[in-house]
Amino acid sequence: MKRLVLIVAVIVGLAVLAAGGVTQGAPPANWLTPMTPFRVADNLYYVGSKGLSAWLITTPGGHIVIDAPLDGNLDRMKLNIETLGFKVSDVKILLNSHAHFDHTGGLARLKRDTGAIMAASEGDRPALEQGVYPGSEDQDFLKFEPVKVDRVLKDGDVVSLGGVSLTAHVTPGHSPGCTTWTLPLKVDGQVRQAMIYCSTTVAANRLAPDPQYPGIVADYRRTFARLATMKADIFLAPHPEQFDMAAKLARLNKGGPNPFVDPGELPVRVAQSRKAFEAALAKQQKKAAS
Ligand SMILES: [Zn+2]
Repeated sequence: MKRLVLIVAVIVGLAVLAAGGVTQGAPPANWLTPMTPFRVADNLYYVGSKGLSAWLITTPGGHIVIDAPLDGNLDRMKLNIETLGFKVSDVKILLNSHAHFDHTGGLARLKRDTGAIMAASEGDRPALEQGVYPGSEDQDFLKFEPVKVDRVLKDGDVVSLGGVSLTAHVTPGHSPGCTTWTLPLKVDGQVRQAMIYCSTTVAANRLAPDPQYPGIVADYRRTFARLATMKADIFLAPHPEQFDMAAKLARLNKGGPNPFVDPGELPVRVAQSRKAFEAALAKQQKKAAS
């Protein structure tokens, strides 16, 4: 019942955001739609729902999870981990793409259930520990259960477990400590660079005249410039539609070369997102001036 109330609150909240003129779109129906988990490549697995990504990275020394979407997704996410043949109790480290409720709502409970440590960027730590959307602290429907950060990460820090290492790239804008993760994966006999991108969409963020947080516009622009210099053979994101997951999964199931490998995808996504950001900024500025 509590969960149903939460779901309704989220949907009503999103409708309010949309009505408020903030670019948010319709309430996504697929956020809580279960999905069969699958192996993307090597030791990286998708354990999220149809509309919200969650990642499992397995190692001989225990497992790493990136993002635990809404609390309402968590039981299914845990089942997904077990379905793949792994133990939820072996999850040792929790990471996050960014501290927005739709990617963090299950982290506190998952941490309690597993005893894993939570590692997150300095920029997103306050939001995670307070359970709020920074700059919208008064919006109850954007709140989530706070989660204590045990290890604070800086740009370039490496998180290692069982011989597997992930690098944190702080790419702020979408959130103050938005973190893009990279790790090497062996795919079809070759080592490939996988990127779990944080996100650079504007979403509910105010850019002007009263920014979501000070310096947000400069942060977005720096992040676009930086992502344009980065390399990703496998581009993954917090929402499946941001990397055409459904189409790639259908191809993966048919066999042949791994369709998630596409070194040309990151630059295209970054260019599209940059254009959308500048258009949203101009729109918000124009509205403020009128
Ligand atoms: Zn977000």
